[in-house]
Amino acid sequence: MPIYEFVCDCGGSFEVRCPISTEAAVCPKCGAQAPRVYSSSFSIHVVPTYSEACEETDQMMRKGKISMGSPLIRQGLQEE
Ligand SMILES: [Zn+2]
Repeated sequence: MPIYEFVCDCGGSFEVRCPISTEAAVCPKCGAQAPRVYSSSFSIHVVPTYSEACEETDQMMRKGKISMGSPLIRQGLQEE
């Protein structure tokens, strides 16, 4: 699976190996939904495995519980 970068509102950034459909992952710092960043360069040497959180998010999105840009996501980030 490809590696994507996510940047959270709390200022934390992290990389996750996750399916191409994944557009958000749980921030390891604060637990909020962090949106995926479309970056052309990846630092392969820093690849923590937060795949479980990533898969959880992916499943939630598949079930229609959350989607990027939705009010649910924005509310979740603000609450954090
Ligand atoms: Zn965060």
